[in-house]
Amino acid sequence: MKLLVATNNDHKIHEYKKMFTQYGIEVVAPKDLNIHDDPVEDGDSYEANSLIKAKALQKYSDLPIIADDSGLNVVALNNFPGIFSSRFAKENGGNAVANLKLIEMLKPHEDKSAFFTCVITLLNVEDKPVQFKGICPGYILDKPEGEGGFGYDPVFYSNKAKMCFGIAPEEVKNKYSHRAEALKQLIEYLKEKKLIK
Ligand code: IMP
Repeated sequence: MKLLVATNNDHKIHEYKKMFTQYGIEVVAPKDLNIHDDPVEDGDSYEANSLIKAKALQKYSDLPIIADDSGLNVVALNNFPGIFSSRFAKENGGNAVANLKLIEMLKPHEDKSAFFTCVITLLNVEDKPVQFKGICPGYILDKPEGEGGFGYDPVFYSNKAKMCFGIAPEEVKNKYSHRAEALKQLIEYLKEKKLIK
C-alpha cells in the first residue's frame, strides 16, 4: 500500500518511513510527486489543521492521504505553543532559540509538565475523513539535551521513554512518540479495513 503523507517536513517524512516500513506501507512525500502546496493552517485545533492539510492534497492525487498536525503543549502556559508550535519556532528564528525561550517562560512555574499531540487525518479511503489522535506525556527540561530528533525534542523529557527525545535513539522515539501513538490507531484501522495485513 502507498500513502501520500501531507507534509513538507523532512523529519516527519523520515519518522513515518521508519514506522511504516514494518507494515509494508510505502510513504510518498508531496515533493516526490512534484507537489509544492503549502496550505494556510488557519484552523483553531489540531483536528481542523490536520484536515486542511489533507484536503489540500486531494486535488492532486487519488492515493490514500494522511496529514499530520502536531505540536507541543505546555500545561503551565495554557498549552502554548500548541497549534502555534511551528509558528513560535519560526518567529524566533528556529527551534534553538525558541526552545531556550520556552525554558525562560517556564522559569516562574513549578509545573513543567507538557505533552506532544499529533492528529493524523486519513483521506481517500472512506467517504469521510477519519482522524486518529496521539498524545505523548512528559515535561520541559531546564536545559536542552542532545541534538537528535527535531523541533522541541531537545527540551522534552518523555515519561514513557524515560529520556529526553533529544538524546533518544530513533527507534525509542518512534515507539513512544505522539506520532507513534496516532499511527498505531491508524494501523489498526487499516487492518480492520483489510487494506494491510
Ligand atoms: P506542523 O508541521 O504544522 O504540524 O508543526 C508541528 C511543529 O510542532 C513542528 O514544526 C515542531 O516545532 C513541533 N513538533 C511536532 N512534532 C514534533 C516532534 O516529534 N518533536 C519535536 N517537535 C515537534
